[in-house]
Amino acid sequence: MDTGGLVLVYTGNGKGKTTAALGLALRQVGWNRKVLFIQFMKGKGNVYGERVAAERFLPLLEIEQHGRDEFVNLGNPAEVDAELARKALRRAGEAMASGEYGMVVLDEVNVAMAAGMIDPSEVLAILDKRHKDTDVVLTGRYCPKEIEDRADMVSEVREVKHHFKRGVPARKGVEY
Ligand code: ATP
Ligand code: MG
Repeated sequence: MDTGGLVLVYTGNGKGKTTAALGLALRQVGWNRKVLFIQFMKGKGNVYGERVAAERFLPLLEIEQHGRDEFVNLGNPAEVDAELARKALRRAGEAMASGEYGMVVLDEVNVAMAAGMIDPSEVLAILDKRHKDTDVVLTGRYCPKEIEDRADMVSEVREVKHHFKRGVPARKGVEY
């Protein structure tokens, strides 16, 4: 059965959404499928192990950071942040339509929608135009209902406990 590309969502307040998407990306690469992993609201000054690993070992996995190094004010995002998010979305849309990629990941795009920087209808529009064999992954808390309705798979990661709550700071290899 040729199901075509799938729309896969990881949302919820527990830890594991971005890393789940990275796991899928790794699987794609194993089958020689190119992956574009777009990180919304993340500046290039933030070094993540996955980006270093991809640059060193995984030419088929392209990780792009679109955003400033500063945190986005989610309650009232700056216009410069919204513009960077819209640019990232255009890039994602082109990549999804091109047929060049087996998978395109829009990491934290749900948060960009929840903060009002991107309208869910714009995400639905690029999903409509994507190449039929390209899988798309959307991550981030607060996934809007209309996106969940369109998705083929939605997993909600629920926090049971997190080491941060007892004061363990972000660690290499675990958080970044
Ligand atoms: P990861 O990148 O580890 O898969 P995530 O994508 O599910 O996590 P985000 O909501 O994107 O998590 O948050 C990013 C950062 O916040 C991560 O470094 C993560 O460890 C941390 N984090 C995630 N969930 C929680 C939580 N429930 N409490 C505290 N910190 C969290
Ligand atoms: Mg994340």
